Amino acid sequence: MDTYDVVVVGGGIAGSVAARFSAAGGLSTLLIERRRTPRNKPCSGIQFPYFEKLLGEKAPPEVLCQNALFKVEMITPTGKVVNGRMRMLNFWRSTFDSWLNRVAAQAGAEFRDEHRLVDFHENGDYIAIQVEDGGGGKTARTRYLIGTDGMNSVVRRKLRPADFRSKGSGAAINYYFEGEARLDPNTLYMFYNRDFSPLMFAWVYLKDDWWVVGTGADTAPLEYAERFLSYVQDRYALRGEMVKREGFSSPMESSVYLGHGSVLLAGDAAGLVDLYRGLGMDNAALSARLAVKAILRSQRSDRSAVEIYERLMKGLVGKIRRNEKRQAARYSTNEELERSLSTPRLIRDGLLMLTAIQVNRLLPPERVITLPL
Ligand SMILES: Cc1cc2nc3c(=O)[nH]c(=O)nc-3n(C[C@H](O)[C@H](O)[C@H](O)COP(=O)(O)OP(=O)(O)OC[C@H]3O[C@@H](n4cnc5c(N)ncnc54)[C@H](O)[C@@H]3O)c2cc1C
Repeated sequence: MDTYDVVVVGGGIAGSVAARFSAAGGLSTLLIERRRTPRNKPCSGIQFPYFEKLLGEKAPPEVLCQNALFKVEMITPTGKVVNGRMRMLNFWRSTFDSWLNRVAAQAGAEFRDEHRLVDFHENGDYIAIQVEDGGGGKTARTRYLIGTDGMNSVVRRKLRPADFRSKGSGAAINYYFEGEARLDPNTLYMFYNRDFSPLMFAWVYLKDDWWVVGTGADTAPLEYAERFLSYVQDRYALRGEMVKREGFSSPMESSVYLGHGSVLLAGDAAGLVDLYRGLGMDNAALSARLAVKAILRSQRSDRSAVEIYERLMKGLVGKIRRNEKRQAARYSTNEELERSLSTPRLIRDGLLMLTAIQVNRLLPPERVITLPL
C-alpha cells in the first residue's frame, strides 16, 4: 500500500496550490482529480493580479485569454453607470487548472487524474483512503488529508453530513455567445440589480471569441438568467449563436468549516466563496497555502494541524463573515443596493482599492488584501 505524508483531493485551484506547496515543503504528496484533465469547471475565470502571488507563480500568456480585461463598468439598479480601470486576469479554468496541475507536479507532487476519492477512515496515526481509478480502485495511507474537492466535497460530507441538503436549490449560470454586441472586449460589465440577481451582480464580458452572460440566484436561477439575457440582447444588441451553457449548483450549506484533526478543508469545500466580492479562487489559493503551513507547523508542535489552520485562517474567515452580512444588507432591496453604490461611497471605495493594489505589491503572499474591498 502506498504511503504519503499528504493526500490532496481535487485538482482545482485549492488542490493544485496545496499540492505544490506541500511537495515544495518536503512532504511526499499525492494530488488526485476525479475527472480526466484538462477538465472544465463552471466559472467566469476572472481574478486580480495579486492572485499570482497566492499561486506562487506568474501565469504564462498561453494560459490566459487573448483579450485582456482592464476596465470595469458598474451599472446600478437605476441605470447609473460607473467606470473604472483595473487589470484583471481572464482565463479558462480548463487550461488554467491544467497548468496549475503541472506546476504542482513540477514541485514534486504525484498527480493522478481520473482518480476519485470514494471514502476514508482515520486509523491511528494514518488515514486510509479508498480511490476509484476506473480499474477497480486502490487504497493508500496518508498522515494528512486535504479536502479541496469543491462544493460537492466527499471529504466534508464524510466529516459533517448535516452540512448537505438533499439537493441544491440555487445555481450560478453562464451563457456563451459567438457573435456581435455593442460592448467593449476589454471591459467587465457588472449589473447590480435584484431583478438580474438577488445574490450578487450579474456579469457580461468577452472570453476570447465568446461573450459570457451570467448570473446567480438562490431560487429560480434560470428565470433570472433568461431575464438578464433578454436585457443584454435588447440593450447591447447581443446577436449570434449560443455555443455553450453551464450551470453550477451545490447542496452544501455555504458555512465555513475547516476540518478536523489531520483532515483539513480548503477552498470551496471549506465554504470560502465570498459573494460580496463575487470571487472564490483567491480564497481557495490562500486557504490551500495556509493548510499546508499548518501541517508543516503541526509536525513541530503538540497542536493538531486543524487547530493551527483555524488560527492562521482567522483573518480570512472573519472577512467572509463580515462580507456575508454586508451582502445580505445591501441586497435586501434595490433601493438599498442603489444607496450602497452612491457616488461618494464608490469614490471612497475606488481610492481604497487603488491603495490596496499598491500595498499588495509589497505584502507577502499570505498577507495580501483580497479585492474588491
Ligand atoms: C458560474 C461561476 C462563476 C465563478 N466566477 C468566478 C470568478 O470569476 N472568479 C473567482 O475567483 N471565482 C469565481 N467563482 C468561484 C470559483 O469557481 C470557486 O471558488 C473555485 O473554483 C474554488 O476552487 P476549489 O479548488 O476550491 O474547487 P474546484 O475548482 O471546484 O475544484 C474541485 C475539484 O475537485 C474535484 N473533485 C471533486 N470530488 C472529487 C473526488 N471525490 N475525488 C477527486 N477529485 C474530486 C473536482 O472535479 C474539481 O476539479 C465562480 C463560480 C461559479 C459557479
